[in-house]
Amino acid sequence: MAKTLIVAEIQKGQLREATLELVTAARKLGGEVASLVIGSGIGGVAEELSKKGGGRVLVADDPSLANYNVDGWTRAIRKAVDAEKPELILISNTPIGWDVAGRVAAQLDCGVASDVIRIEPEGGDLVFVRRMFNAKFDARLRVAGTPRLATMQPGASEAYAGSDAGSVAKLDGVGGDARTKFVEIRTAPAGGHDLTKAEIIVSGGRGLQKPENFEAVLKPLVDALGAQMGASRPVVDAGWLPHEYQVGSSGQIVSPKLYVAVGISGAIQHLVGMKNSNFIIAINKDADAPIFEVADVGIVGDLFEIVPALATAVKAAKGG
Ligand SMILES: Cc1cc2nc3c(=O)[nH]c(=O)nc-3n(C[C@H](O)[C@H](O)[C@H](O)COP(=O)(O)OP(=O)(O)OC[C@H]3O[C@@H](n4cnc5c(N)ncnc54)[C@H](O)[C@@H]3O)c2cc1C
Repeated sequence: MAKTLIVAEIQKGQLREATLELVTAARKLGGEVASLVIGSGIGGVAEELSKKGGGRVLVADDPSLANYNVDGWTRAIRKAVDAEKPELILISNTPIGWDVAGRVAAQLDCGVASDVIRIEPEGGDLVFVRRMFNAKFDARLRVAGTPRLATMQPGASEAYAGSDAGSVAKLDGVGGDARTKFVEIRTAPAGGHDLTKAEIIVSGGRGLQKPENFEAVLKPLVDALGAQMGASRPVVDAGWLPHEYQVGSSGQIVSPKLYVAVGISGAIQHLVGMKNSNFIIAINKDADAPIFEVADVGIVGDLFEIVPALATAVKAAKGG
Protein backbone atom coordinates (compact mmCIF):
# COMPACT_ATOMS: atom_id res chain seq x y z
CA MET A 1 0.00 0.00 0.00
CA ALA A 2 1.52 3.33 -0.99
CA LYS A 3 -0.02 6.48 0.39
CA THR A 4 -3.39 7.42 1.94
CA LEU A 5 -4.68 11.00 2.03
CA ILE A 6 -7.10 11.75 4.87
CA VAL A 7 -9.51 14.66 4.49
CA ALA A 8 -10.02 16.04 8.01
CA GLU A 9 -13.16 17.70 9.37
CA ILE A 10 -13.37 20.42 11.98
CA GLN A 11 -16.54 21.02 14.00
CA LYS A 12 -16.92 24.00 16.31
CA GLY A 13 -13.16 24.61 16.06
CA GLN A 14 -12.27 21.03 17.09
CA LEU A 15 -10.95 18.12 15.09
CA ARG A 16 -13.79 15.65 14.62
CA GLU A 17 -13.47 12.24 16.25
CA ALA A 18 -14.39 10.79 12.83
CA THR A 19 -11.12 12.18 11.43
CA LEU A 20 -9.08 10.30 14.04
CA GLU A 21 -11.01 7.17 13.07
CA LEU A 22 -9.81 7.71 9.48
CA VAL A 23 -6.25 7.88 10.87
CA THR A 24 -6.74 4.44 12.45
CA ALA A 25 -8.10 2.99 9.20
CA ALA A 26 -5.25 4.53 7.15
CA ARG A 27 -2.53 3.37 9.56
CA LYS A 28 -3.86 -0.20 9.57
CA LEU A 29 -3.08 -0.34 5.84
CA GLY A 30 0.58 0.18 6.67
CA GLY A 31 1.50 2.77 4.01
CA GLU A 32 2.44 6.42 4.25
CA VAL A 33 -0.23 8.78 5.66
CA ALA A 34 -0.89 12.40 4.71
CA SER A 35 -3.81 14.59 5.77
CA LEU A 36 -5.57 17.70 4.58
CA VAL A 37 -7.15 20.27 6.91
CA ILE A 38 -9.44 22.84 5.30
CA GLY A 39 -10.71 26.09 6.81
CA SER A 40 -9.60 29.53 7.96
CA GLY A 41 -7.26 30.13 10.90
CA ILE A 42 -6.80 26.40 11.43
CA GLY A 43 -3.05 26.16 12.12
CA GLY A 44 -3.69 24.87 15.65
CA VAL A 45 -5.89 22.02 14.46
CA ALA A 46 -3.32 21.09 11.79
CA GLU A 47 -0.59 20.95 14.47
CA GLU A 48 -2.83 18.76 16.63
CA LEU A 49 -3.53 16.32 13.78
CA SER A 50 0.19 16.12 12.95
CA LYS A 51 0.79 14.93 16.53
CA LYS A 52 -2.09 12.46 16.46
CA GLY A 53 -1.03 10.28 13.56
CA GLY A 54 -2.09 12.50 10.62
CA GLY A 55 1.42 12.22 9.10
CA ARG A 56 2.29 15.09 6.77
CA VAL A 57 -0.59 17.52 7.28
CA LEU A 58 -1.37 19.95 4.47
CA VAL A 59 -3.19 23.11 5.49
CA ALA A 60 -5.66 24.71 3.09
CA ASP A 61 -6.14 27.94 5.03
CA ASP A 62 -8.06 30.76 3.37
CA PRO A 63 -10.85 33.17 4.43
CA SER A 64 -13.01 31.77 1.57
CA LEU A 65 -12.88 28.37 3.33
CA ALA A 66 -14.06 29.63 6.73
CA ASN A 67 -17.36 27.79 6.18
CA TYR A 68 -17.86 24.61 4.17
CA ASN A 69 -18.56 25.03 0.45
CA VAL A 70 -18.24 22.24 -2.06
CA ASP A 71 -16.29 24.28 -4.67
CA GLY A 72 -13.63 25.37 -2.17
CA TRP A 73 -13.26 21.88 -0.66
CA THR A 74 -13.06 20.21 -4.08
CA ARG A 75 -10.37 22.67 -5.13
CA ALA A 76 -8.38 22.07 -1.93
CA ILE A 77 -8.66 18.26 -2.16
CA ARG A 78 -7.53 18.30 -5.79
CA LYS A 79 -4.50 20.44 -4.89
CA ALA A 80 -3.63 18.01 -2.08
CA VAL A 81 -4.01 15.03 -4.43
CA ASP A 82 -1.67 16.73 -6.95
CA ALA A 83 0.87 17.36 -4.18
CA GLU A 84 0.72 13.97 -2.45
CA LYS A 85 -0.30 11.58 -5.26
CA PRO A 86 -2.16 9.22 -2.88
CA GLU A 87 -3.43 5.79 -3.87
CA LEU A 88 -6.37 6.16 -1.53
CA ILE A 89 -8.37 9.22 -0.41
CA LEU A 90 -10.34 8.77 2.81
CA ILE A 91 -13.28 11.04 3.69
CA SER A 92 -15.74 10.62 6.58
CA ASN A 93 -19.26 9.48 5.68
CA THR A 94 -20.80 12.69 7.07
CA PRO A 95 -23.01 15.33 5.40
CA ILE A 96 -19.83 17.07 4.19
CA GLY A 97 -18.40 13.76 3.00
CA TRP A 98 -21.56 12.86 1.07
CA ASP A 99 -21.50 16.25 -0.62
CA VAL A 100 -17.86 16.51 -1.58
CA ALA A 101 -16.85 12.88 -2.30
CA GLY A 102 -18.88 12.55 -5.49
CA ARG A 103 -17.67 15.91 -6.81
CA VAL A 104 -14.01 15.06 -6.16
CA ALA A 105 -14.39 11.60 -7.72
CA ALA A 106 -16.03 13.04 -10.82
CA GLN A 107 -13.26 15.59 -11.26
CA LEU A 108 -10.48 13.03 -10.70
CA ASP A 109 -12.37 10.41 -12.71
CA CYS A 110 -11.85 7.86 -9.95
CA GLY A 111 -14.02 5.20 -8.30
CA VAL A 112 -15.75 5.63 -4.94
CA ALA A 113 -16.71 3.13 -2.25
CA SER A 114 -19.17 4.84 0.07
CA ASP A 115 -20.29 4.11 3.65
CA VAL A 116 -17.37 1.74 4.23
CA ILE A 117 -16.86 0.13 7.66
CA ARG A 118 -13.55 -1.61 6.97
CA ILE A 119 -10.72 -1.71 4.42
CA GLU A 120 -8.79 -4.93 4.01
CA PRO A 121 -5.58 -5.40 2.01
CA GLU A 122 -6.00 -8.51 -0.17
CA GLY A 123 -3.62 -9.83 -2.82
CA GLY A 124 -1.94 -6.46 -3.35
CA ASP A 125 -5.34 -4.79 -3.73
CA LEU A 126 -7.82 -3.25 -1.30
CA VAL A 127 -11.25 -4.63 -0.40
CA PHE A 128 -13.79 -2.11 0.88
CA VAL A 129 -16.42 -3.63 3.20
CA ARG A 130 -19.84 -2.04 3.61
CA ARG A 131 -22.96 -3.25 5.37
CA MET A 132 -26.14 -3.88 3.40
CA PHE A 133 -29.78 -4.71 4.13
CA ASN A 134 -29.71 -3.48 7.73
CA ALA A 135 -26.39 -5.20 8.37
CA LYS A 136 -27.63 -8.64 7.29
CA PHE A 137 -24.92 -8.80 4.59
CA ASP A 138 -21.43 -7.40 4.12
CA ALA A 139 -20.63 -6.30 0.57
CA ARG A 140 -16.95 -6.56 -0.41
CA LEU A 141 -15.97 -4.10 -3.12
CA ARG A 142 -12.86 -3.55 -5.18
CA VAL A 143 -12.35 -0.18 -6.85
CA ALA A 144 -10.48 -0.12 -10.15
CA GLY A 145 -7.69 2.39 -10.81
CA THR A 146 -5.98 4.94 -8.59
CA PRO A 147 -6.47 7.12 -6.77
CA ARG A 148 -9.57 5.56 -5.31
CA LEU A 149 -11.84 7.24 -2.82
CA ALA A 150 -13.73 5.85 0.15
CA THR A 151 -16.11 7.46 2.62
CA MET A 152 -15.94 5.78 6.02
CA GLN A 153 -18.79 5.35 8.45
CA PRO A 154 -18.17 7.32 11.69
CA GLY A 155 -17.80 4.91 14.60
CA ALA A 156 -16.63 2.00 12.46
CA SER A 157 -13.02 2.33 13.73
CA GLU A 158 -11.60 3.42 17.06
CA ALA A 159 -10.19 6.96 17.13
CA TYR A 160 -6.40 6.81 16.72
CA ALA A 161 -4.79 7.01 20.13
CA GLY A 162 -1.11 7.02 19.10
CA SER A 163 1.07 10.11 19.17
CA ASP A 164 3.31 9.74 16.12
CA ALA A 165 4.95 13.03 15.22
CA GLY A 166 4.21 14.31 11.72
CA SER A 167 4.75 17.65 9.98
CA VAL A 168 2.65 20.58 8.79
CA ALA A 169 2.91 22.27 5.37
CA LYS A 170 0.88 25.07 3.81
CA LEU A 171 -1.05 24.31 0.63
CA ASP A 172 -1.06 27.30 -1.75
CA GLY A 173 -3.65 28.42 -4.28
CA VAL A 174 -6.68 27.13 -2.39
CA GLY A 175 -8.72 30.36 -2.25
CA GLY A 176 -11.24 31.33 -4.91
CA ASP A 177 -14.87 31.76 -5.84
CA ALA A 178 -17.64 29.45 -4.78
CA ARG A 179 -20.98 29.06 -6.52
CA THR A 180 -22.75 28.60 -3.22
CA LYS A 181 -22.89 31.20 -0.46
CA PHE A 182 -22.83 30.34 3.23
CA VAL A 183 -25.83 31.87 4.98
CA GLU A 184 -26.05 30.49 8.53
CA ILE A 185 -25.97 27.39 10.68
CA ARG A 186 -29.22 26.78 12.54
CA THR A 187 -29.03 24.59 15.60
CA ALA A 188 -32.20 22.78 16.61
CA PRO A 189 -33.61 24.21 19.86
CA ALA A 190 -32.60 22.13 22.86
CA GLY A 191 -35.58 20.03 23.88
CA GLY A 192 -36.40 18.79 27.35
CA HIS A 193 -35.44 15.21 26.45
CA ASP A 194 -31.69 15.10 27.05
CA LEU A 195 -30.69 11.44 26.76
CA THR A 196 -26.99 12.20 27.22
CA LYS A 197 -27.52 12.55 30.98
CA ALA A 198 -29.91 9.60 31.42
CA GLU A 199 -28.74 6.72 33.64
CA ILE A 200 -31.18 4.20 32.16
CA ILE A 201 -32.54 4.28 28.61
CA VAL A 202 -35.10 1.95 27.06
CA SER A 203 -35.11 2.44 23.29
CA GLY A 204 -37.62 1.11 20.82
CA GLY A 205 -37.15 0.39 17.14
CA ARG A 206 -39.19 -0.51 14.10
CA GLY A 207 -39.91 -3.86 15.75
CA LEU A 208 -42.58 -2.09 17.82
CA GLN A 209 -44.57 -1.84 14.58
CA LYS A 210 -46.74 1.21 15.33
CA PRO A 211 -46.58 4.44 17.37
CA GLU A 212 -49.26 3.38 19.87
CA ASN A 213 -47.02 0.51 21.02
CA PHE A 214 -44.45 2.93 22.44
CA GLU A 215 -47.08 4.04 24.96
CA ALA A 216 -48.80 0.68 25.42
CA VAL A 217 -45.82 -1.72 25.40
CA LEU A 218 -42.56 0.20 25.96
CA LYS A 219 -43.70 2.91 28.42
CA PRO A 220 -44.58 0.49 31.27
CA LEU A 221 -40.99 -0.88 31.17
CA VAL A 222 -39.59 2.68 30.94
CA ASP A 223 -41.62 3.66 34.02
CA ALA A 224 -40.83 0.49 35.96
CA LEU A 225 -37.08 1.06 35.48
CA GLY A 226 -37.27 4.83 36.07
CA ALA A 227 -35.72 5.19 32.63
CA GLN A 228 -35.95 7.63 29.72
CA MET A 229 -37.32 6.49 26.38
CA GLY A 230 -35.10 6.47 23.28
CA ALA A 231 -35.64 5.36 19.70
CA SER A 232 -33.97 4.31 16.48
CA ARG A 233 -34.03 6.62 13.51
CA PRO A 234 -36.86 5.04 11.48
CA VAL A 235 -39.15 5.60 14.49
CA VAL A 236 -38.29 9.29 14.48
CA ASP A 237 -38.35 9.59 10.67
CA ALA A 238 -41.87 8.15 10.70
CA GLY A 239 -42.91 10.83 13.20
CA TRP A 240 -43.73 8.28 15.94
CA LEU A 241 -41.47 10.16 18.40
CA PRO A 242 -39.73 13.58 18.24
CA HIS A 243 -36.17 13.81 16.89
CA GLU A 244 -34.68 14.38 20.36
CA TYR A 245 -35.48 10.71 21.16
CA GLN A 246 -33.16 9.42 18.44
CA VAL A 247 -30.00 7.56 19.47
CA GLY A 248 -27.22 7.15 16.94
CA SER A 249 -24.76 8.81 14.62
CA SER A 250 -27.30 11.39 13.48
CA GLY A 251 -29.04 11.54 16.87
CA GLN A 252 -27.79 11.57 20.46
CA ILE A 253 -24.63 9.73 21.59
CA VAL A 254 -25.44 8.17 24.97
CA SER A 255 -23.57 6.21 27.63
CA PRO A 256 -26.07 5.30 30.37
CA LYS A 257 -25.51 2.69 33.07
CA LEU A 258 -28.17 0.54 31.43
CA TYR A 259 -29.39 0.56 27.81
CA VAL A 260 -32.27 -1.67 26.78
CA ALA A 261 -32.69 -2.03 22.99
CA VAL A 262 -36.13 -3.33 22.05
CA GLY A 263 -36.91 -4.37 18.47
CA ILE A 264 -33.76 -2.62 17.19
CA SER A 265 -31.61 -4.47 14.65
CA GLY A 266 -28.31 -2.79 15.59
CA ALA A 267 -27.27 -1.02 12.40
CA ILE A 268 -23.83 0.58 12.74
CA GLN A 269 -25.39 4.08 12.89
CA HIS A 270 -27.40 3.04 15.95
CA LEU A 271 -24.50 1.19 17.61
CA VAL A 272 -22.29 4.27 17.31
CA GLY A 273 -24.72 6.10 19.57
CA MET A 274 -25.05 3.54 22.39
CA LYS A 275 -22.22 1.00 22.30
CA ASN A 276 -20.40 2.77 25.17
CA SER A 277 -23.30 2.13 27.55
CA ASN A 278 -22.17 0.36 30.70
CA PHE A 279 -24.59 -2.58 30.35
CA ILE A 280 -26.68 -3.43 27.30
CA ILE A 281 -29.75 -5.66 27.14
CA ALA A 282 -31.13 -6.43 23.68
CA ILE A 283 -34.54 -7.94 22.91
CA ASN A 284 -34.99 -9.12 19.34
CA LYS A 285 -36.73 -12.05 17.68
CA ASP A 286 -33.87 -12.48 15.18
CA ALA A 287 -30.97 -14.37 16.81
CA ASP A 288 -28.62 -13.03 14.10
CA ALA A 289 -29.48 -9.35 14.69
CA PRO A 290 -26.21 -7.37 14.97
CA ILE A 291 -27.42 -5.70 18.19
CA PHE A 292 -26.46 -8.95 19.96
CA GLU A 293 -22.80 -8.30 19.05
CA VAL A 294 -22.68 -5.44 21.59
CA ALA A 295 -25.22 -6.79 24.11
CA ASP A 296 -24.21 -8.01 27.57
CA VAL A 297 -27.52 -9.86 27.80
CA GLY A 298 -29.43 -10.88 24.69
CA ILE A 299 -33.02 -12.10 24.74
CA VAL A 300 -34.17 -13.80 21.54
CA GLY A 301 -37.94 -13.69 21.37
CA ASP A 302 -41.09 -11.71 20.72
CA LEU A 303 -40.90 -8.29 22.35
CA PHE A 304 -44.69 -8.22 22.75
CA GLU A 305 -44.36 -11.13 25.21
CA ILE A 306 -41.03 -10.26 26.81
CA VAL A 307 -41.38 -6.53 27.47
CA PRO A 308 -44.66 -6.71 29.46
CA ALA A 309 -43.29 -9.69 31.46
CA LEU A 310 -40.08 -7.74 32.18
CA ALA A 311 -42.03 -4.65 33.26
CA THR A 312 -44.13 -6.76 35.64
CA ALA A 313 -41.01 -8.48 37.04
CA VAL A 314 -39.19 -5.16 37.60
CA LYS A 315 -42.25 -3.70 39.36
CA ALA A 316 -42.53 -6.80 41.54
CA ALA A 317 -38.79 -6.71 42.38
CA LYS A 318 -39.18 -3.08 43.42
CA GLY A 319 -42.12 -4.07 45.60
CA GLY A 320 -44.66 -2.19 43.46
C1 LIG B 1 -26.48 8.51 7.25
C2 LIG B 1 -27.33 7.66 8.12
C3 LIG B 1 -27.47 8.02 9.44
C4 LIG B 1 -28.25 7.22 10.28
N1 LIG B 1 -28.37 7.57 11.58
C5 LIG B 1 -29.05 6.76 12.42
C6 LIG B 1 -29.14 7.05 13.81
O1 LIG B 1 -28.65 8.07 14.30
N2 LIG B 1 -29.82 6.20 14.59
C7 LIG B 1 -30.41 5.05 14.11
O2 LIG B 1 -31.02 4.30 14.89
N3 LIG B 1 -30.34 4.75 12.80
C8 LIG B 1 -29.69 5.58 11.95
N4 LIG B 1 -29.66 5.29 10.62
C9 LIG B 1 -30.51 4.18 10.12
C10 LIG B 1 -29.86 2.81 10.31
O3 LIG B 1 -29.05 2.50 9.21
C11 LIG B 1 -30.96 1.73 10.43
O4 LIG B 1 -31.77 1.77 9.27
C12 LIG B 1 -31.83 1.88 11.66
O5 LIG B 1 -31.03 1.99 12.82
C13 LIG B 1 -32.74 0.66 11.78
O6 LIG B 1 -33.68 0.91 12.79
P1 LIG B 1 -34.38 -0.30 13.54
O7 LIG B 1 -33.35 -1.17 14.14
O8 LIG B 1 -35.43 0.29 14.44
O9 LIG B 1 -35.19 -1.02 12.37
P2 LIG B 1 -34.88 -2.39 11.62
O10 LIG B 1 -33.51 -2.45 11.11
O11 LIG B 1 -36.02 -2.57 10.68
O12 LIG B 1 -34.95 -3.48 12.78
C14 LIG B 1 -36.12 -3.85 13.44
C15 LIG B 1 -35.75 -5.02 14.33
O13 LIG B 1 -36.87 -5.39 15.09
C16 LIG B 1 -36.87 -6.80 15.21
N5 LIG B 1 -38.24 -7.21 15.49
C17 LIG B 1 -39.32 -7.10 14.67
N6 LIG B 1 -40.44 -7.56 15.29
C18 LIG B 1 -40.04 -7.98 16.52
C19 LIG B 1 -40.71 -8.58 17.62
N7 LIG B 1 -42.04 -8.81 17.58
N8 LIG B 1 -40.00 -8.89 18.72
C20 LIG B 1 -38.66 -8.69 18.78
N9 LIG B 1 -37.96 -8.13 17.75
C21 LIG B 1 -38.65 -7.78 16.66
C22 LIG B 1 -36.35 -7.31 13.88
O14 LIG B 1 -35.81 -8.61 14.02
C23 LIG B 1 -35.30 -6.26 13.54
O15 LIG B 1 -34.01 -6.66 14.00
C24 LIG B 1 -28.90 6.07 9.77
C25 LIG B 1 -28.74 5.73 8.43
C26 LIG B 1 -27.96 6.51 7.62
C27 LIG B 1 -27.78 6.10 6.18
